[in-house]
Amino acid sequence: MPTTLADVTRVIEGLWPLAGAEAWDAPGLLAGDPAAEISAVLLAVDPVADTVAEAIDTGADLLLVHHPLLLRGVTSVAEDRYKGALLARLIRGGCALVAAHTNADVVADGTSAVLADLLGLQQPRAIEPAATGGTGLGRVGTLGEPTTLGRLARRLAEILPPTASGVRVSGDYDAPVRTVAVCGGAGDSYLAHPEVRAADAYVTADLRHHPASEAREQARLGGGPALIDVSHWASEWLWLPVAARQLTEALPGIRVTVSELRTDPWDFTVIQ
Ligand SMILES: [Zn+2]
Repeated sequence: MPTTLADVTRVIEGLWPLAGAEAWDAPGLLAGDPAAEISAVLLAVDPVADTVAEAIDTGADLLLVHHPLLLRGVTSVAEDRYKGALLARLIRGGCALVAAHTNADVVADGTSAVLADLLGLQQPRAIEPAATGGTGLGRVGTLGEPTTLGRLARRLAEILPPTASGVRVSGDYDAPVRTVAVCGGAGDSYLAHPEVRAADAYVTADLRHHPASEAREQARLGGGPALIDVSHWASEWLWLPVAARQLTEALPGIRVTVSELRTDPWDFTVIQ
């Protein structure tokens, strides 16, 4: 019996149930015929031209991404717009598209959990426990051995795939660090969360001037974490090998590959 796209989406929804997704999110099957036969899956963080081309060029029948391509309403899939062009390329190439986004963040071994695990955080708990199913978003835990902020940042630089922006830190290089909060992807909404405020360092991505500056100013008065800002793509890419392993276990006949293409939008940094 060939494995169909419907079989694979059932497995995907078993691993990362759609009920766990945030209300604003749009994960799940974005394109493809549920009756189509699936023999190879490519995993990537972003549905962009490079990963779509890689999926088709390597003979994948399914591109499984973290970020949904159609999160906000579109009124056209004309091919002079990139979303239409990507969908047309996928459909013509016989490649389906599925996203596992916040539903892959909340599970026990979701995006933040993988980051917490690679940092060696012990007994990690969710920053924000899940309302429906799963563990919740973000993780906070303690390091087996206390370290310093500088060494924690260097460790992150080793763990994460390389990006132009690297690892940016707000805080003292030698500040002691024991409790660490992490949130893969954009986690500025947790800057004022009590679990994050109580940590020695908070690792997340996409920290902008005002949220970061305000959190650090408040920390000077009432305590709060040092901030470590990493690449959004890199922080979530770490989840892909774990997801690939889970898919391979559930679908032993399917070839599952992780894209190594860097889809972080930044290409270079000029250090002053
Ligand atoms: Zn993300």
